[in-house]
Amino acid sequence: MKVLVATEKPFAAAAVNGIKAEVEGAGHQLVLLEKYTEKQQLLDAVADVEAMIVRSDKVTAEVLDAAKALKIVVRAGAGFDNVDIAYAKEKNVVVENTPGQNSNAVAELVFGLLVYAVRNFYNGKSGSELLGKKLGILAFGNVGRNVARIAKGFGMDVYAYDAFCPKDVIEAAGVKAVDSQDALFENCDVVSLHIPATPETKQSINAALVGKMKKGGILVNTARKEVINEPELLKLLEERTDLKYVSDIMPDAHEEFCKFEGRYFATPKKMGAQTAEANINAGIAAAKQINAFFADGCTKFQVNK
Ligand code: NAD
Repeated sequence: MKVLVATEKPFAAAAVNGIKAEVEGAGHQLVLLEKYTEKQQLLDAVADVEAMIVRSDKVTAEVLDAAKALKIVVRAGAGFDNVDIAYAKEKNVVVENTPGQNSNAVAELVFGLLVYAVRNFYNGKSGSELLGKKLGILAFGNVGRNVARIAKGFGMDVYAYDAFCPKDVIEAAGVKAVDSQDALFENCDVVSLHIPATPETKQSINAALVGKMKKGGILVNTARKEVINEPELLKLLEERTDLKYVSDIMPDAHEEFCKFEGRYFATPKKMGAQTAEANINAGIAAAKQINAFFADGCTKFQVNK
């Protein structure tokens, strides 16, 4: 089979080597299209390939139509909104993502942000420690579980709430499961958000919820900016001068948040998954998933069922 890696922004060299070893090791042929600048280059490259690995590259209906032999597209990463999954389904093309491959990267950044916050953004003033503090993890998915693992190393008292993950799964990871997100905010010194942006979660982190936090509470957001009700959080930070908000996703109202100097920080760009390791892991996972698909029809990570 021909496996195309089509990346406007290429993988790291180590990732490409890993993908090549996986694909060729399974007896397939690797075709590389890197740093392409014209759509036509992509349309030509997909013409005779059975599989395709992309990063943020757009796999539109036009691309799918041009890919006459295509059976599977794997987006190396978690989000897959760059692929027209409905049209792919119509054309019987399996679309997969590579969940979990960037989770440790995001989880480590949570603690980068958190230490920065408890040490007063390194302004020279005495801060506080994480040891013994209560951490609430909102959503116990791939990232949330990694956050729990690292938090234990800091000696934190770890709690979690997940709307779909059973309590016994949370407890089996040595984490205290609570019954609601309200309970998490009421009980914890720090709450770290790991919910996806869905119709239910969008704007769900509002003043009523965050306002339940104890004095000195810290909210960490490495999920999505859409889950925050920004106007309400701005108002709350105005009223509750003890609260801090740190994120790797700049809010739409960043300028307004900036007035809370010493209590607000957002990285200039989304940083959570930006590590060499996450890049390599996602690329190699994509290659392995393609091999499994051709070997025995495995579609475990299909997102357009
Ligand atoms: P995941 O799919 O592994 O886990 C999501 C968890 O959320 C699941 O356990 C699910 O049961 C739970 N959930 C869904 N809806 C919920 C709700 N309404 N209330 C409570 N729990 C709910 O995803 P993940 O890999 O852990 O990533 C979590 C989110 O982090 C992603 O959706 C993405 O938006 C974000 N993310 C950000 C970065 C970054 O660079 N900052 C990178 C990767 C992921």
